[in-house]
Amino acid sequence: MLIAGNWKMNTDVSSAIELARNIVESLNEHEEVSVAICPPAVNLADVARAIDGSSVYLGAQNMHFEDAGAYTGEVSADMLTAVGCRYVIIGHSERRQYFAETDESVNLKVRRAVDRDLVPIVCVGEHLGERQSGAAHNVVARQISRGLEDVDIDSGRSLVIAYEPVWAIGTGHTATPEQAQEMHEHIRGLLSDQFGADTAGSIEILYGGSMKPDNADELLSQPDVDGGLIGGASLRAESFISIIESAAASTG
Ligand code: PEP
Repeated sequence: MLIAGNWKMNTDVSSAIELARNIVESLNEHEEVSVAICPPAVNLADVARAIDGSSVYLGAQNMHFEDAGAYTGEVSADMLTAVGCRYVIIGHSERRQYFAETDESVNLKVRRAVDRDLVPIVCVGEHLGERQSGAAHNVVARQISRGLEDVDIDSGRSLVIAYEPVWAIGTGHTATPEQAQEMHEHIRGLLSDQFGADTAGSIEILYGGSMKPDNADELLSQPDVDGGLIGGASLRAESFISIIESAAASTG
C-alpha cells in the first residue's frame, strides 16, 4: 500500500515545513503502508529536511524528460533525486489539461524517471463524457499502452499507477468502490499483458479523486486498490493520517 499526498500549488515554505512536521509527528508506522508527500518543487529541499530520519518519502509533482539544457522553468530527474525524491507524479490530469501534456510526453518522462531511479506515479483516467459514453476502458488502455511504451522495469516496485477519474478530482464526486475496483482490475490486466502477471501483481495501483477519511475505508479495501493519491485531504495532517490508518486497516 502507498498513500501519497499531492499538495499541488499549495503551501509556502513555512506552511510546507509545518505540514510535513505534523505528518511525521502524528504518523503511526505501519510496515505495509508507505507514505509519500509531494510538495511544490520550490519547497522540496525544506520538506526533505523536515522529514529527514522519518519513514515518509518525498515526491515531486512533475519533471522534464531531458537531463539538462535550455528548458526555462523546468526540473530534471537528477535534480529531484539530488534533493531526496523517491517518487515523481507524471501525467496528472491537471498537467494534461492545463500544460498540454500528452501520452507521448508522459512516456518520455516515465522512461527517464525509471532510468534515473525515480519511481513514477503515472496518472491515468477518463473524463466524465468518456465514462458516460462507455469509452472509459479504452481511454485508460490508450493512456497505459502509450504512456508505458518501451518502459523497462526490473520489478513492480519501480512503477506506480494512479487511476484518477478526472470527474472525481477536486469535485467531491468519488468513484464508487465498485467503479474503482472494476477499473483497477482492467489496469492490472493491461499491466499483466505488458510486464507479465508477477510484475503486474506487485505494481501498486492507487485510486485518486476526492478520497477522504469518510470514504477511504471502502475504497482501500477493494482487492486491486493498493493505495491512494490524495489531493485536498493531504493538506491537513489529520485527514491525511486518517486515510493512512484506513490503508493500514485494509491490509490487516
Ligand atoms: C489529485 O489531484 O491527485 C487528487 C486526487 O485530488 P483530490 O483528492 O483533491 O480529488
